[in-house]
Amino acid sequence: MKNRVSILGIPFDNISPEAAVEQVYAMRLEERAHRVVTPNSEMVYLAQSDPVFAKILRESDFVVPDGVGVIYASKLIGTPIREKVAGIDLGEGLIARMARSGEGVFFLGAKPGVADLAAEKLCEKYPGLRVVGTQDGYFKNVDEVIEKINQSGAVLLFVCLGVPKQEQFMAEYGPRLTSVRIMLGLGGSLDGYAGLAKRAPKWMIRMGLEWFYRLCKEPYRYKRMLALPKFMLCVLKYGKKEVAKK
Ligand code: UDP
Repeated sequence: MKNRVSILGIPFDNISPEAAVEQVYAMRLEERAHRVVTPNSEMVYLAQSDPVFAKILRESDFVVPDGVGVIYASKLIGTPIREKVAGIDLGEGLIARMARSGEGVFFLGAKPGVADLAAEKLCEKYPGLRVVGTQDGYFKNVDEVIEKINQSGAVLLFVCLGVPKQEQFMAEYGPRLTSVRIMLGLGGSLDGYAGLAKRAPKWMIRMGLEWFYRLCKEPYRYKRMLALPKFMLCVLKYGKKEVAKK
């Protein structure tokens, strides 16, 4: 039985970051492209008004809480999730595994050149890593991209197209991927791996202040971040139930 906690209708896997890497890595043994999503409070809030997006999250193979807002919410409704699992760390944990096994990875998303830079940095850090393909996130012909991924023989695919585009991409095109076993929706992580978007200092991450660091660095995101208080109000009102279903 999976240990899951529902917050506003989205079932989160309640698991440590280390165990998350193990479980996701094990998914490659089953012959289909598994979908892994990393919702934060903003995404859960978006799901309340977008039933299609909510369904994509709900029906994913693995759902990790990538935000302290989700952790606070889980405590508030009396079913605490043990800790945040940052998508960028989950991705790196899998990269470390793949570097040891020699299985191929493909980076899809971000601005032209970023995925290649991320590949270069990660290959330096994890000798043995095989990045078998990259593609920026501003492509015109999706069929060509699917073909490129299939030709690469990648087992692990990072999908970094922003929310909700990356989740929609995985839901729609996952079934057409022939070699991929794990798809991970990772937002701006390629920018992070490439060293273009710096993460908060460790002490801030530990104190749950990564969102504050991001707000200071990218103040234009404040509108998106307003979803956090709205999400909290929704949690107080509806708890585990999904609003969009009402
Ligand atoms: N992006 C993309 N294609 C698009 C829109 C966005 O590849 O059509 C990329 C963008 O360049 C960035 C990532 O998706 O690298 C989203 O970053 P953001 O910081 O918004 O993601 P978050 O982690 O907040 O969802």
